[in-house]
Amino acid sequence: MSSRLTGTPTFADLLASAVTDPGVISAAYHQFHSYSLGNQLLAWSQCLARGLQPGPMATYPRWKELGRYVRKGEKAITLCQPVTVTRTRNPIARVDEPDVCTRFIYRPHWFVLAQTEGAEMPAMPTPGWDAARALATLDVREVPFEELDGNVLGLASGRTIAVSPVNPLPHKTRFHELAHVLLGHTSAGDQTDGDLTSRDLRECEAEAVALLCCAALELPGVEYARGYIQSWWGRANPIPERSAQRILKCADQILKAGLPAIHGD
Ligand SMILES: [Zn+2]
Repeated sequence: MSSRLTGTPTFADLLASAVTDPGVISAAYHQFHSYSLGNQLLAWSQCLARGLQPGPMATYPRWKELGRYVRKGEKAITLCQPVTVTRTRNPIARVDEPDVCTRFIYRPHWFVLAQTEGAEMPAMPTPGWDAARALATLDVREVPFEELDGNVLGLASGRTIAVSPVNPLPHKTRFHELAHVLLGHTSAGDQTDGDLTSRDLRECEAEAVALLCCAALELPGVEYARGYIQSWWGRANPIPERSAQRILKCADQILKAGLPAIHGD
């Protein structure tokens, strides 16, 4: 399955393959962490398909600035850029109704290091991710866990989360609860998580975000999350494209929020 117009994989395709092989997420994150998670996976899949060594990636003019040039005949890597489109405003439309929408545009403008030649490139270490910084940036507060029910491992309420001190996978649950907040689930009611027995779309979305974050940062919990997600999103129940977009965007928000500087495409 791929998007009809561009031939590039859909976000649901990218997410499904990442869940099947979570090693791809950490590898793609390390190579392309300054790009969005969706674009990291897009770049990775194209490198693999073309037998290119994944590595630092930049546009043609950017490589020139770095003292390198793209080899003749190299085919650009296609990335997705969200573009805000403002429609021509109807003169009688009310001013307080913004007439804008977001579209995804695929552009072939990037090349990886292996497609270039020239000046030596300095090594680019992956910046450290910090949970406290992520929480502060995302305006979410982690409070002491006060739930008395021993089956509860984590909670999310409003913009507050709590993780049980006896939770064996605290990072995974922190990401899961953060996802409930960022995906707007807590505005529908408090989220209480035990052994993930309830199976609804909200739980699956939050757990998929937790899987992506744990996999990117190489924290434990990936296998557990994967088992849950795969039992829910099997062949008969594919990931809806809209959910896949929400999951990738949310995980990306969490990963970017924990980095020391602002990174963007
Ligand atoms: Zn949950």
